[in-house]
Amino acid sequence: MAGKEGESMLVRKIEEGTVVDHIPDWKADTVSQVLRLDKLARMQADVSVAILQNVESKTLGRKDVIKIDRWHVDERDADILTLVFPTITVNYISEWKVSKYEARVPDAIEGRVRCPEVLCITNAEREPVVPRFTTLKKDRLLQCQYCDAVLGFDRVPEYVRT
Ligand SMILES: [Zn+2]
Repeated sequence: MAGKEGESMLVRKIEEGTVVDHIPDWKADTVSQVLRLDKLARMQADVSVAILQNVESKTLGRKDVIKIDRWHVDERDADILTLVFPTITVNYISEWKVSKYEARVPDAIEGRVRCPEVLCITNAEREPVVPRFTTLKKDRLLQCQYCDAVLGFDRVPEYVRT
């Protein structure tokens, strides 16, 4: 039974790490971009990443799941992820115990996202300042605290700093 096999892949336990669940189907790549999972390769970290795509979900119909063995995703990155995908859930696993992280849209974001305005002081070639945004939650926009440029939550993955 294919369904059962899919399920066993999902529930396989990890001892230490992070499970990012309830990702909209086929959006796992965007999630790895926001979480900068490619940096794990650069660090030659001893981690494994399992990406499950288009698996059955009770709440979403279909969903993607990312399991990262031996790596705890930074909470601030998890918060940024909820801007883009409000459905996601982040679980940290430590010594086989699962704890759900209550990701929330932060009031401000510092250092993680680039300003879309090329002339912004945060994009200066010499002595750039750390980008800071205020989140306009109702409008689903980030607003640069230096130049007032706005960036839709949906476009945040394109501007995540590497
Ligand atoms: Zn700016």
